Amino acid sequence: MSAPSPTRVSVLLPLPFEAPFTYVAPAPLALGAVVLVPLGPRLVVGAVWDDAPNMQVNAKPVAQVLDFPPLPEALRQFMDWVAHYTLSKRGDVLALGLKASLLAEPKRRIKNFSFGGADFSQAGPDLSADQAQAAAALRANVATGKFGVTLLDGVTGSGKTEVYLEAVAACLAAGRQALVLLPEIALSVQFLQRFEKRFGAAPAVWHSELTPAVRRETFRAVAQGRATVVVGARSALFLPFPELGLIVVDEEHENAFKQEDGVMYHARDMAVVRAKLSAAPCVLCSATPSLESVENAASGRYARLDLPARHGGAQLPKVIALDMRANPPERGKFISPMLVQAMRDTMARGEQCMLFLNRRGYAPLTLCRQCGHRMACPNCSAWLVEHKSHKRLICHHCDYHTNTPATCPACTARDSFAAIGPGVERIAEEVREVFPQARVLMMASDVIAGPKQAAEAARMISEREIDIIIGTQMVAKGWHFPALTLVGVVDADLGLAGGDLRAGERTVQMLHQVAGRAGRAQAPGVVVLQSYAPEHPVMAALLSGDLSAFMAQEALQRCPGHWPPFGRLVALIISGPDEKLTDQTARALARSAPAGAGIETLGPAPAPFAMLRGRHRRRLLLKAARHIDVQSLARDWLARTEIPRNVRVDVDVDPVSFM
Ligand code: ADP
Ligand code: ZN
Repeated sequence: MSAPSPTRVSVLLPLPFEAPFTYVAPAPLALGAVVLVPLGPRLVVGAVWDDAPNMQVNAKPVAQVLDFPPLPEALRQFMDWVAHYTLSKRGDVLALGLKASLLAEPKRRIKNFSFGGADFSQAGPDLSADQAQAAAALRANVATGKFGVTLLDGVTGSGKTEVYLEAVAACLAAGRQALVLLPEIALSVQFLQRFEKRFGAAPAVWHSELTPAVRRETFRAVAQGRATVVVGARSALFLPFPELGLIVVDEEHENAFKQEDGVMYHARDMAVVRAKLSAAPCVLCSATPSLESVENAASGRYARLDLPARHGGAQLPKVIALDMRANPPERGKFISPMLVQAMRDTMARGEQCMLFLNRRGYAPLTLCRQCGHRMACPNCSAWLVEHKSHKRLICHHCDYHTNTPATCPACTARDSFAAIGPGVERIAEEVREVFPQARVLMMASDVIAGPKQAAEAARMISEREIDIIIGTQMVAKGWHFPALTLVGVVDADLGLAGGDLRAGERTVQMLHQVAGRAGRAQAPGVVVLQSYAPEHPVMAALLSGDLSAFMAQEALQRCPGHWPPFGRLVALIISGPDEKLTDQTARALARSAPAGAGIETLGPAPAPFAMLRGRHRRRLLLKAARHIDVQSLARDWLARTEIPRNVRVDVDVDPVSFM
């Protein structure tokens, strides 16, 4: 027998490089093998990649082949695909799924920590006819073991979760792994409890708050196929599942699925790609599906399942618009007397209320009554937000914060500051004045910082230790509190300002989700929308509950101009510490912008955040008809424009934020 001969291999490193490097291995290595290789003076982790190695260069030897399952082919293809689609470097995409810190052998098994034990043959609840039909369709998809996307559109409380858990059970019975993506970890508390109740064991979870030890252990368990169900945030898409058999994207309309820095990818869209490359079905769930998914279902690209009624005969809540011009709150207050009365009646019946305002802190603007000076962030085009509980003015876009000054920095007047407008803290203050006896809970990301606090909040609400919940978008979706019957939206017009492409769609989705928290059990729910524009189409859609009519209207507006989903967008965000240079670069890019039939470039324009974290920002937007390959256009565009060293150009394909 001849000894194995040294071979060259390509190794992709999880570092900002587009291409793999060539190394020499003592014997052929499996594609995807995880290795340690020298890079300059250090050893770095990497994975053997599919590119042909370079036979010309002087190649260093692979230092070590790690005891870890090779990254599966479907994952490698997925990473290459994401890099190509988002115009990112392949190494940067690999870094989303492979890090040295994930590979260390766990020193010892973590106590109580296992991934098995779930009993997937255990029967779920008796399903209604609609639910059973939807579950059967999803189970059949899983059984075929083929790619296909299904939009599961069901009203809030219709049992979408119960239905897709049936698909999860089928996937596990077939011996494959299932991935459930959730937009926010705070949401997962009630979900995990339900999962455990349904299957008798907890799933593996994957999000940024895991301890390093749990993270390592989970990563290895997924790669070895021991972790059969993963419930995770968007980054779970990059886990090395050897046998992925199902992806569920819950709340698929959520913008939280879009990663807004580094590799800017949309996890909902990438989930579809990951499923395709893994020959697995993909289920997108929402009570308020995105126009993208609605159109994909309409065109037949996606299958569609509907759950039109709430489970167990619960009725959808009654939605009322409260015209704030006719029913204004008292001076300096934000809750109309009519909403106060509704809250009083609700609590008198022993039920719970929720007030929703998507704004953290006490007041979004602090202004000097003497000279009109507004307290702004020195690093960002943004006002500082007062957080009374911290006695601070805080920028919500960078780390900047300062104590509320005693005198105005502009005119030196003493105690001259006025708080303009409300945040949730201010609403809580008002509620405590009106209902001093009520037990009030604030739910915002600065108070409910992680899964532990979220679990405790959920427990307190469920066990009726709370009368009034006051929250930001954190309270909008997922939660199921049977005694919660009144939802008050403090400022229903808030999301409509600014007017980006999806402002209307987003507002309808968010408010409909908040409304969906009310009356989920026997007691009927009421939703009060405080609005200064109750005649706006968004309010009309919420009042009628006919979201599909609203979406059809949205489609009519976006179609002619080739706006998404009827066309493609690529945003370039040009930023730098030097305003002039940033501006010049943006104008140079505009001059060399691609042109042609079906192609349009908008800008450059100062970004709405013309300054962010000390960097000046300009935006350009490339808009193209659907059939046009925008990636090639954008790549060529960037290649023919010189970008100065001090200026950065971030590319955002399919942008959802235009800030
Ligand atoms: P959605 O995800 O559509 O908002 P859920 O799956 O959360 O709806 O269901 C709402 C509530 O109704 C949950 O408490 C769920 O456990 C319950 N539920 C739904 N379907 C059934 C069923 N077939 N049998 C018993 N309980 C159900
Ligand atoms: Zn700032």
